[in-house]
Amino acid sequence: FDTIARLIRTHAAQAPGRTALVDAADSLDWGSLDALMDRVAASLQRDGLRAGDAIAICASSSVNYAAVFLGALRAGVAVAPLAPGSTPASLARMIEDAGARLLFVDAMAAEAIGPAAPGAIARIALDASDAGTALGGWLMPAGTRPAEVELQPSSPFNIIYSSGTTGEPKGIVQGHGMRWAHVRRGAKYEYGPETVTLLSTPLYSNTTLVVFFPTIAFGGCVVLMPKFDAAAYLKLAERKRVTHTMLVPVQYQRLMARPDFDAHDLSSFRFKFSTSAPFNAALKADVLARWPGGLIEFYGMTEGGGTCILEAHLHPDKLHTVGQPAEGSDIRLVDESGREVPVGEAGEVVGHSAGMMVGYHRQPAKTREVEWFDATGKRFIRTGDVGRFDADGFLTLFDRKKDMIISGGFNIYPSDLETVVRSHPAVADVAVVGVPSEQWGETPVAFVVRREGDVTDTDTLLQWTNAQLGKTQRLARLNLIDELPRSAIGKVLKRELREREIR
Ligand code: ATP
Ligand code: MG
Repeated sequence: FDTIARLIRTHAAQAPGRTALVDAADSLDWGSLDALMDRVAASLQRDGLRAGDAIAICASSSVNYAAVFLGALRAGVAVAPLAPGSTPASLARMIEDAGARLLFVDAMAAEAIGPAAPGAIARIALDASDAGTALGGWLMPAGTRPAEVELQPSSPFNIIYSSGTTGEPKGIVQGHGMRWAHVRRGAKYEYGPETVTLLSTPLYSNTTLVVFFPTIAFGGCVVLMPKFDAAAYLKLAERKRVTHTMLVPVQYQRLMARPDFDAHDLSSFRFKFSTSAPFNAALKADVLARWPGGLIEFYGMTEGGGTCILEAHLHPDKLHTVGQPAEGSDIRLVDESGREVPVGEAGEVVGHSAGMMVGYHRQPAKTREVEWFDATGKRFIRTGDVGRFDADGFLTLFDRKKDMIISGGFNIYPSDLETVVRSHPAVADVAVVGVPSEQWGETPVAFVVRREGDVTDTDTLLQWTNAQLGKTQRLARLNLIDELPRSAIGKVLKRELREREIR
């Protein structure tokens, strides 16, 4: 089941000199990538790693990062890609939890990990720094071939730590079968040898990997941009004649807001993807109007509990939704007691797909908590998101269950309030959270980022908003801030906003 690694062998044989991977400093053709993967796999085997063992990679995106990831797959070794922005304690915990036998780092990540990492495990530097043993020194000589490995669909492919938006990160074990399911879906989006995919989100996130692996499996070229910058992104996209990309909504927002956006020639684009956070309808419409090529939004979770896909360019009247269940996905909505709700009613989204996680790493109890089974015993994953299907089978998402506000016995969806606030011309961005209230239990508070140069004051915005809301929905407060706190993958950290209000 090492299908992706095998496909790379084929691309290398057919077009050894064509470019496979590019970063700011380096590039690798298919022949060299395939040879490097062999050396990585053989070196892991020399160090005693067997199929099912794990390594950790903690670094910014680079050609070497991608090659080591792919090389590990050839040895059946699972990769735990870690976010360098995590705290030292959290990184140490993840390395330990993953049972990583080797740690691949760059200079910046090594500093982030510091001495907190479990000391016994060897570090290998992906860059030219002295963050660990030099990669070149660790690798077996050119021409070395690894021993063949036997893999199953459930064999671990990678262990991705959840972003921790709602709690402590959990290791999500994805199998080879799950990745293959993502790749197969890629056939629909015209991936092939002519593909040039620009990725500016980090390689440790599933958001990036759901586009990275299909591009590689279909023989396309991946251009890695380690740190997103809107101006640089547009220049690179134009220069490299990019055909595919993955961007999170806040990146689309930054790109579309650039005064020089329309001056760029983006006619090479075939498909743009988005996932991981709410993407508002007006922004989607703007992208469709001004950026050539299709726009595909995925709704799902790293755990893989079913996916919804919105082919936005084909459904301009459904931009407020996250689309329809993907092929092979089965999505149901359930109430508090786990019973399915009637069509047209809101409920927690539970999903089944070929791409479901094996489980949380070493946490069977946590795995059982998110599992849901229908009457026939079919396994689903609870998403913690609340949604509703319309009559055409398109899913509208409200909020995470944990973010829903219960005020004076009424359920308030922050997303409803955010839509109202966002429609004010002064507002660039907004997040609404529930904070404790003696009178109501919880009460909604808004955090607003104004458009550049705008000077509308708090009271004006608060009164304007509340005038449009029902009595039970009204905002208790509205705070102006410069920027919403976001995770590295662009998710608004509502927990942080709530804590700010409480302190
Ligand atoms: P944690 O589980 O640690 O809190 P996380 O849920 O943010 O982290 P992911 O698995 O990366 O980690 O994200 C899945 C969640 O992201 C979904 O449950 C949903 O809330 C949100 N999400 C994903 N895609 C979309 C989308 N297209 N629109 C709105 N929200 C989305
Ligand atoms: Mg989650």
